[in-house]
Amino acid sequence: MLQLHIRGIFPVYPCLFPDSGQGRTGLPPTPRRAPCLVHRLLLIPSWHRVKVAIIGAGLAGLAAAVELVEAGHQVHIYEGRPFVGGKVGSWVDPQGNHIEMGLHVFFFNYANLFALMAKVGALQHLLPKEHTHVFVNAGGDVNQLDFRFILGAPFNGLKAFFTTAQLSWVDKLRNAMALGTSPIVRGLVDYRGAMGVVRSLDRLSFAQWFLRHGGSQASLERLWNPIAYALGFLNCEAISARCMLTIFMMFATRTEASKLNLLQGSPHRWLHEPLVQHIEKHGGRFHLRHRVQTIYEQQHGDGLRVSGLQLTTPTGEQQVEADVYLAACDVPGIQRLLPSHWKQRYTQFAHIDQLTTVPVATVQLRYDGWVTELEKPAAGADPDHPAGLDNLLYTADADFSCFADLALTSPADYRKPGCGSLLQCVLTPGDPWIKAKKEFIIAQTDAQVRRLFPSSGGLTLLWGNVVKLAQSLYREAPGMEPYRPEQGTPISNFFLAGSYTRQDYIDSMEGATMSGLLAAAAILNRPAQLATSPAVVSN
Ligand SMILES: Cc1cc2nc3c(=O)[nH]c(=O)nc-3n(C[C@H](O)[C@H](O)[C@H](O)COP(=O)(O)OP(=O)(O)OC[C@H]3O[C@@H](n4cnc5c(N)ncnc54)[C@H](O)[C@@H]3O)c2cc1C
Repeated sequence: MLQLHIRGIFPVYPCLFPDSGQGRTGLPPTPRRAPCLVHRLLLIPSWHRVKVAIIGAGLAGLAAAVELVEAGHQVHIYEGRPFVGGKVGSWVDPQGNHIEMGLHVFFFNYANLFALMAKVGALQHLLPKEHTHVFVNAGGDVNQLDFRFILGAPFNGLKAFFTTAQLSWVDKLRNAMALGTSPIVRGLVDYRGAMGVVRSLDRLSFAQWFLRHGGSQASLERLWNPIAYALGFLNCEAISARCMLTIFMMFATRTEASKLNLLQGSPHRWLHEPLVQHIEKHGGRFHLRHRVQTIYEQQHGDGLRVSGLQLTTPTGEQQVEADVYLAACDVPGIQRLLPSHWKQRYTQFAHIDQLTTVPVATVQLRYDGWVTELEKPAAGADPDHPAGLDNLLYTADADFSCFADLALTSPADYRKPGCGSLLQCVLTPGDPWIKAKKEFIIAQTDAQVRRLFPSSGGLTLLWGNVVKLAQSLYREAPGMEPYRPEQGTPISNFFLAGSYTRQDYIDSMEGATMSGLLAAAAILNRPAQLATSPAVVSN
């Protein structure tokens, strides 16, 4: 059971967003706590109810939509795909298998996403896992970063690092030296000050920073690379120090932050449905298979205003108009959408073209027994008695960096009668797999699974599937932070959201939610209100 305790919601990092578009829409400042819909309709004069067109129904667009409909505005969401959720999207294939864009885990530091989920009644759809990070090495050797401890952060983290068998004692000491001289220590007493230091480390890769601070190459390979791959689909040489240290800061200062959850089942059912229902209940409208092709503009004083959108829809071309436009796209989507003369005229838009993305491939493998059951291998052969590791799993010994047995972690949709494990493996780096044949990827992944779990040798692979995303997360490489745009733009009625836009977290569900909230705040002409506390505890 999860309970939400927002311990502090306050405007965050105002210095980061000096020009967030506030005041440019002409909307009146919205009170912090909006009254119920009936009251709003009575209190807000009709000329203050504006029509907002949101392009993209990923988490960023959905989070913004919730804020805007609750503030009484008329929201239309245009999504190019046939489903909502963007990169968290999921669907059911003709054989009844639930397919996902990728494996999604929810850390307990997702204060803004959890607040959103609580609002729409989805928070109880999360299944908390044991507070350990599990590493599976070749030959069935399982080690843990075990955060379960009588004392909270940072002591539970120290205990986890000093007791793990994943590192030698020399590597543990060198790890301690690196982390002990990091901004994390300052963060224990001065979180914001330490975050300032972390942001300034964006020009370094994590490997550069870690090795300079005394960390060892072996720690990078056995421990940090799988984690970096899981977070950003990049290894420690390629990922920015800012990205990794932001996570460490949260893990070190908040006891529950490093604990994770998975959804009970598929995101479509357990996350997106409640969000869509909430938005529609408040008057919002979804238009799926509606891809925005062109943005129309008109001169407005010295600047520009967006005057309409051209869309391709199942029934042909369509034009729509709104008062305010929010592009909540992914990186390739926004790069295609922005008119080239905007990029020539405004550096904020030109910078977006500097962002690149990382490929990733996600493989699902269904077996006739329980692959990750190592303690009693015989039990693994009985599909009717689920057994094995019910958590996110990392590995340094396969082409996938992280994986989970969804039939254990998210049984509502993924467990099938008469079948055992449904492994979902995230292949990183994704580059070599994008052009490979599905059958080849499945065979390679299956072979590597069996090397990790020799006891699964007798099991039969019943079914496999691959989802490839040639352009997924924005590449959190060193030096990219200055190119991430703010949510307000030089076009007075045009705003941006999306996890690639500037927010203080990594490209993730929480980052996407934060960007949506920041965009909504800019549109509503009110200070950004982000939850920064760990917010959620399990019991
Ligand atoms: C394999 C994988 C695993 C992941 N695992 C995790 C995880 O464990 N934990 C975590 O927190 N995060 C994870 N993430 C990251 C997370 O999914 C993303 O950060 C987040 O979903 C991004 O949301 P978004 O709304 O910013 O963008 P998106 O989800 O990309 O949404 C953008 C939407 O805009 C639409 N769009 C674009 N252009 C147009 C247009 N012109 N017209 C209409 N619609 C348009 C797109 O179709 C899309 O639906 C993972 C991502 C992947 C790919």
